Formats: sequence, C-alpha cells, structure tokens
Amino acid sequence: MERKISNFDVCIIGASIAGNYLTYLLSKTTLKIAIIEEHKEIGIPFQCAGIVSQKLSKLINLPKNIILNRVKVAKIVAPSGKFIKLAGNEQPFIIDRVALDRFFYDKVKDNDIITYFLGEKYESFKYFKDGQQKSVLIKTSKRKLKAKILVGCDGPLSVVARSFRIKNKLLYGTQIRVKGSFDQNEAVMFFDPRWKELFGWIVPEGSNDIYRIGLASSKNISINFKNFLKKLRINSAKKIDQQGGLIPYGVMNKLAFDNVLLLGDAAGQVKATTGGGIIMLLIAAKYASYCIQKCFDLGDYSKKSIKKYYEKPCLNSIGKQIKLHYLIRLIFEKFSNSDFETFFQIVKSNKIEEIISLYGDMDFPRSIMVKLLKNSIVIKFLIRFFSINPLLILKILTVLVNRD
Ligand SMILES: Cc1cc2nc3c(=O)[nH]c(=O)nc-3n(C[C@H](O)[C@H](O)[C@H](O)COP(=O)(O)OP(=O)(O)OC[C@H]3O[C@@H](n4cnc5c(N)ncnc54)[C@H](O)[C@@H]3O)c2cc1C
Repeated sequence: MERKISNFDVCIIGASIAGNYLTYLLSKTTLKIAIIEEHKEIGIPFQCAGIVSQKLSKLINLPKNIILNRVKVAKIVAPSGKFIKLAGNEQPFIIDRVALDRFFYDKVKDNDIITYFLGEKYESFKYFKDGQQKSVLIKTSKRKLKAKILVGCDGPLSVVARSFRIKNKLLYGTQIRVKGSFDQNEAVMFFDPRWKELFGWIVPEGSNDIYRIGLASSKNISINFKNFLKKLRINSAKKIDQQGGLIPYGVMNKLAFDNVLLLGDAAGQVKATTGGGIIMLLIAAKYASYCIQKCFDLGDYSKKSIKKYYEKPCLNSIGKQIKLHYLIRLIFEKFSNSDFETFFQIVKSNKIEEIISLYGDMDFPRSIMVKLLKNSIVIKFLIRFFSINPLLILKILTVLVNRD
C-alpha cells in the first residue's frame, strides 16, 4: 500500500553542523521542518581537526564545554623543517566537534514542528505543481515527502548539488588522535609540495596530552600519511582513534535554484588554504535562514528570489574570501621546496612575521593580502609565479580591489 506523503515547509538534507544550525535558526519561526540524515547518531562519524577562529564565539552563543583548548601560536613548517611562528590575537579554539553538532540538535529535537528522520538516506527530488506554485517531492530510502524548499546540507558528495551538475574538487583528509608530548599551546602546520595538498597538522586537544595529527592530500593519502607520521616519529599503532573524510575546495558559485539552496560543504563554502569550513557555513546559514523566511513571507520560492536573498549576500561576503583562499592555494601549489625556503626566509627577515601576527585573519585573508602586496620584497618573490600565470595576478587583484 502507498504510504501517505507528509507535507513540510522546508526539508533539510544532512544533520551535521550546517543542517543542525540552519534548523536551529529556523526553529524560531513557525515553519514545519523535516531533516533527513543517513546516520543514526548526530555527529558520528566525526571528521574534523576542530580548529576554528575566535569568530565562532561571535557567531554563536558558544557553551564552554565545546572549547577544549585555545592555541597561542601557529607554527608553520617548511619541507626542510625550518619554521615561522605566528603569535597574534587570533588564538583559535580547538573544539569538540561532536559536541558542536549535538549542541544545536539538542536545542531543537523536541520542537513539535521539527522532525528528524535519522538513519534515512535522501535519494532524489522532483518538481511538481502544488496549486499555482512549484514545490518539491523528495524521495528518501524510507518515504516520500513534499516541501516548498529543499536545502542541501549533505556535505562534500552532496546528492542535492549533483542533481544540478555541481561537483566540487575534493581532497582526502585523514587524522589520528594520539597521546604525545608536543606543545599544548601550538597548532603546527606542515607544507610539502609532494603532497599537492593543503597541509599536514598537529592540533593539541588540551591538558590531556592528546593531539590530532592529520594530513590532507589530493592522492595517495595512505602512503603520504604513513610517511608523514614516520617523519614525526609517531607510532600509528598507538592511535586512540582515526577520522577521515573529504574536503571540497574551489570557488563558491551557484547556491540558488528554484525551491533549492545549497549550504556548507555541499555548497563548497570551504577555505582552500586550510580546509576549514565551519566559520564560512555558519555565516552562510544566517543568510540562508533569512532567505527562507523571506521566501515564505513573499510566497516566492523561485531561483530569482533565492539568488537575491541568499546567493548574492553570500557571494559578496564569504564568496570573495573563499575565492582569495583558492587563489592563494593556486600559488602554493606552484611552490617547490626551495620556494618555501625562500618565502619563509623573506617572512622571517622582513618583519612580515610580525605583520601577519598582527593583521592575519585565518578566515578573511583580504586585508593581510593587501598589506603583503604592498611590500616590494614579497612582490619581487611572487612575480615569477605571476609571470607563469598572469591571469592569476589579475584574478587576485580583482578580488583585492573589489570592496564590498
Ligand atoms: C579531516 C578533516 C579535518 C577538518 N578540519 C577542520 C577544521 O579544523 N576546522 C574547520 O573549520 N573545518 C574543518 N574541516 C571541514 C569541516 O569538517 C566541514 O566544513 C564541515 O563538517 C561541513 O559541515 P556540513 O554540515 O556542511 O557537512 P558535513 O559535516 O559533511 O555533513 C553532511 C551531513 O549530511 C549527511 N548526508 C550526506 N549525504 C546524505 C544523504 N544522501 N542522505 C542523508 N544524509 C546525508 C552526512 O551523513 C552528514 O551528516 C575538516 C574536514 C575534514 C574532512
């Protein structure tokens, strides 16, 4: 017998940080919301190094139990082992990522107009005419449901995004948690051109002497990670546990379609220099929540409306910064071992370390880029990369010159 099709206003796919935070924001409205999550438990499996800038506490009312540690120094290591240390005002949080995902879920799970369907996979959607209006009919592994708006918060391999032929470039990330004797106050980042990646990392969890040690790589992740651990003299057999996942990167472009929005990793709202996505998606979620409420106020769920109230504000704010992260990454991808050496030498010996410490912002690199590109030594060093790819400099300058 055909099961009755339930009606919702909004259907959100994915109950990780993006999906749960958006649900929390919308829980203050009267909209009837369904959330589909393929896993049975919120936050599991967790796939995150948990390093997030202080902006987190400005964006959300952050409970103390989510913050495990706060690092004072960012140590950046070149392939030779030489390093620079940045110790500014940034002092990012090291968070308990599972607790963050559950924090918003716990706030809304008992709300009468919010329904979580856990252990249920989203499969597809199709448009249908609901009276005069276009709506969406959603199919999961267990049911069909109707909604006015569908939000894809379904991560780097987003099925919702793929139905619009949107595919992000992907990196593999892997991480183990081990007891160790590194510095509890330092987050360490390792660059190595052989990995063609973002970087390797050591993130201290706090007073428990546990460290999250990970690597992101575009290929050969297992062998690269094995070599990375060997270099750090870490015995992987002593790991407490292991995490892994995909990291999308690129420039965020299309977020809006008729009746559909993309948010978080599904939308490519990730910094291509570090793989960090949490701050960007929290900012985007606020626009998404405003847009959805606006669509219901106007009774207009068209692409035009979603573009106006969600895509455009996102592109004008985090979009520019995400683009800049991507362009910076393209420069790093061209660095050889000796380029890293020279660059680190320049940073060390020209007070640039101080400038980055003072003005650096791990999410919004625009102001520090403007400052650095005024420095003739930096320009002289970068000119070779720009002459290989003149379009790159043009793109960077366009983002830098283009104020909001
Ligand atoms: C190894 C690693 C380290 C990272 N470290 C950091 C860091 O230090 N700082 C930082 O800011 N960011 C970091 N990130 C990135 C950060 O984890 C992501 O940006 C963030 O998790 C994105 O959240 P999201 O809700 O958009 O997507 P996800 O967290 O990927 O969640 C997507 C959800 O959708 C569900 N889902 C997927 N498909 C379906 C389907 N068909 N049906 C139903 N449910 C579905 C999944 O089960 C999942 O719960 C890291 C990522 C990785 C992989």
